[in-house]
Amino acid sequence: MSLSKDYIETVYKKLEERGAHQTEFLQAVREMFNTIEPVIEKKPDYIKWNILEQLVEPERIITFKVPWMDQAGKININKGYRVQFNSAKGPYKGGLRFHPSVNESIMKFLAFEQIFKNSLTGLPIGGGKGGSDFNPKGKSDIDIMRFCQSFMTELHRHIGPQLDIPAGDIGVGAREIGYLYGQYKRLNGSETGVLTGKPISMNGSLGRKEATGYGLVYYTDEMLRANGKSFQNQKVVVSGSGNVAIYTIKKVQEYGGTVIACSDSNGYIYDESGIDVTLLQEIKEIKHLRLSQYQTQTSHYSEGSIWNLNKRYDIALPCATQNEIDKDKAQKIITNGAYCVSEGANMPSTIDAITLYQKNKVLYGPAKAANAGGVATSTLEMAQNASHSHWPREQVENELKAIMKNIFDTVNKTCETYNLGNNYLVGANIAAFTQVADAMIYQGIV
Ligand code: GLU
Repeated sequence: MSLSKDYIETVYKKLEERGAHQTEFLQAVREMFNTIEPVIEKKPDYIKWNILEQLVEPERIITFKVPWMDQAGKININKGYRVQFNSAKGPYKGGLRFHPSVNESIMKFLAFEQIFKNSLTGLPIGGGKGGSDFNPKGKSDIDIMRFCQSFMTELHRHIGPQLDIPAGDIGVGAREIGYLYGQYKRLNGSETGVLTGKPISMNGSLGRKEATGYGLVYYTDEMLRANGKSFQNQKVVVSGSGNVAIYTIKKVQEYGGTVIACSDSNGYIYDESGIDVTLLQEIKEIKHLRLSQYQTQTSHYSEGSIWNLNKRYDIALPCATQNEIDKDKAQKIITNGAYCVSEGANMPSTIDAITLYQKNKVLYGPAKAANAGGVATSTLEMAQNASHSHWPREQVENELKAIMKNIFDTVNKTCETYNLGNNYLVGANIAAFTQVADAMIYQGIV
């Protein structure tokens, strides 16, 4: 075993011994560690500074109690988290997730991924993530407001426009960010730049809502074009039907592709003539109904995972949640004819699924590169707030497009430097890792 490999494995083993039960976090670290041997080999400083062990330990984890009384007078207790993982590149930045599955392992994996994603944007932001095991599904506006107020009553002392800037993620959209900001303002006064993804009328940015989905399509388009392909006339499957999925579908259609299926946590719709986005938006964004309500003359609803679909398609864009694609589902995607998988969700593919993509030379856009458009536009929102300005939609979209192109160029250039061909997974990991690790060395042991 080479010195670098030995170092990587020693650090991983130690981490595993310390946090053996944190499955998702260990998976995210393993996935990164599987790819960085060439760069550790090239730069002995990383071993000298024990950079890997420094990197896998969060700077700070805040956990707190969120007590709140619902409309019916019942007292509820949830757990709240904020993981301030790494500030080498700037203030902690990353979303808040409200979902019953939230625990420390999920928070740590998301914050860990966020460090590298944020560095790939080229913008001055570190990595963090937070959230709660609160389930917003089916709750009234009043209950959601009360929960958000209690959550922020504790969180406010740990965040700030130069310190830590939360945003949305699963279960947290403009409505929740609005309530969270309202409470922050009562406690700290107006500091608009402390949260991003705010409603437009509360100094949010135009184009933020669409940014993750649009950014995913911009990035994937760059990757396709670099390989002599495009979205034109391609059949595409998009999992999910939330914010990321909806704007992914919209942009794919603008780029000439046909999205034949999308899903929610219960099942999926298949529509050979292409998903009707206006109908989808009405059901999910306006009426907050289940996807099974989507009915057209050509659509068909099935229960279960969208990745069990048996139809021919070209491109898979997972936009639902972590580990939605395991080895068997990856095999099915490949058998169905897909030559490209690009990720809108965070860590939607298991390590075995990724190995299968690699073996089959699938064009693979890893989440930390492909879905960075959301956080990039959050940073544009911070820039607008800091300069007391409001940019037109076109300006935000042009900046986003340029950022996504720049991310792909950086990944591609790293592939050239390290002779990786079009192994964009390793290219993205090495590019992101190098930027963070170098910034850490420059700041010394802190
Ligand atoms: N939750 C999003 C992500 O996973 C956005 C984070 C942000 O805008 O800060 O990148």
